[in-house]
Amino acid sequence: MSFSNLGLSPAILQAISTRGYTTPTPIQVAAIPEILRGNDVLAAAQTGSGKTAAFALPLLQLILETPTEKPRRLRTLILVPTRELAQQTAESIRTLAQTSPQPLKIAALFGGVSINPQMMDLRGGVDIVVATPGRLLDLIDHNALSIATVSSLVLDEADRLLDMGFADEIGRILALLPKQRQNLFFSATFPPAVHALAAKMLHQPARIAIPALEQNQPAIQQRAIQVDAGRRTQLLRHLLRENNWGRVLVFVATKYAAEHIAEKLHRAGIKAAAFHGEFSQGARDEVLADFKASKVQVLVATDVAARGIDIAQLPVVLNYDLPRSAVDYTHRIGRTGRAGKSGIAISFISADTEAHFRLIEKRHHLRCEREQIAGFEPVVTAVSASTESPTDTANGGIKGKRKSKKDKLREAAARDSTD
Ligand code: AMP
Repeated sequence: MSFSNLGLSPAILQAISTRGYTTPTPIQVAAIPEILRGNDVLAAAQTGSGKTAAFALPLLQLILETPTEKPRRLRTLILVPTRELAQQTAESIRTLAQTSPQPLKIAALFGGVSINPQMMDLRGGVDIVVATPGRLLDLIDHNALSIATVSSLVLDEADRLLDMGFADEIGRILALLPKQRQNLFFSATFPPAVHALAAKMLHQPARIAIPALEQNQPAIQQRAIQVDAGRRTQLLRHLLRENNWGRVLVFVATKYAAEHIAEKLHRAGIKAAAFHGEFSQGARDEVLADFKASKVQVLVATDVAARGIDIAQLPVVLNYDLPRSAVDYTHRIGRTGRAGKSGIAISFISADTEAHFRLIEKRHHLRCEREQIAGFEPVVTAVSASTESPTDTANGGIKGKRKSKKDKLREAAARDSTD
């Protein structure tokens, strides 16, 4: 299959060739013709599948097919869960629109930075907006922007949007959009809340459910290494010494852990940096740029900060702390193995997290062999790991004793309070 068979115009084919893409990814083959026909789309797509270009290319073409208006009329609204994804998506679209016969204006709107420059940027109108829901509503409330003229709406990483508590904001935004519009819905996973939102928004959508293995994404090698919780940093250092990994993204549960572990690695002579939600936008951009430029080898990050970041050639993702949910697991490991490159996702499993990892495996119909590394074999058992409270008891090693739903909720709450 080639891009020229998908109904794309010469201007868009030119943009694709300038961007250096030669073959469309499976999601692009499936989505582009549907979007050009004006249909709604419901697509199961991971990051790394080429989904941004899958919606950006046909939407650019639809905009270019209609005459220009003065002032510019907002045509396309793309909602994303994080500021990093907003910036990245806007940047990708700007690159694709560079060779466009008519200059298009694309704005990235996200919180955590002053609202004034974004208000200034919207003066004179804009063609495409990529926004996080909260900041978009703030700008609408300030009369800096109207979304009443939007003809295509994209929800990107819909599962993440809901996971981050944006359901109310999305409801408000939907109410402000024109009834007649095209809706494109992309999500890596489809828990019930995502299904419900899709059902509410979409009209007879083209369903694009591409099984993970066909996603132009070589299988990410998933490994689970057993290690005592107290020896994880030592093991991480050992693995960094033993393997020629280049960049490594290490996920931890809390901001404190991110700082603490980055500091420990730094003291051991490893180029490491922390990355979490408390950083200013400027500091985040700087750390990411250093990571991309290989000035930082190990980025120790929380979920909040690392969501949606697109770093080419990220060979290894390591779960130092396990993610809270199976959805988070998918998003974390999706940071590696992007755009046709292979990747490794390693999870550290200790006695008290074995049961939680089994739940993640069960959700994904997955079973990772448990590995042990010589010199780091665990000695702590599930029973001895649970010294703090009876609810910490992992069910991993205890036959017949399963955690109740209440226990799991309590654990989640305890984890929340340390974040
Ligand atoms: P995405 O899934 O949109 O985050 O895209 C992941 C990466 O794949 C980005 O760096 C894109 O530039 C790249 N990409 C998208 N489409 C193609 C394509 N057809 N060929 C090669 N790379 C692509």
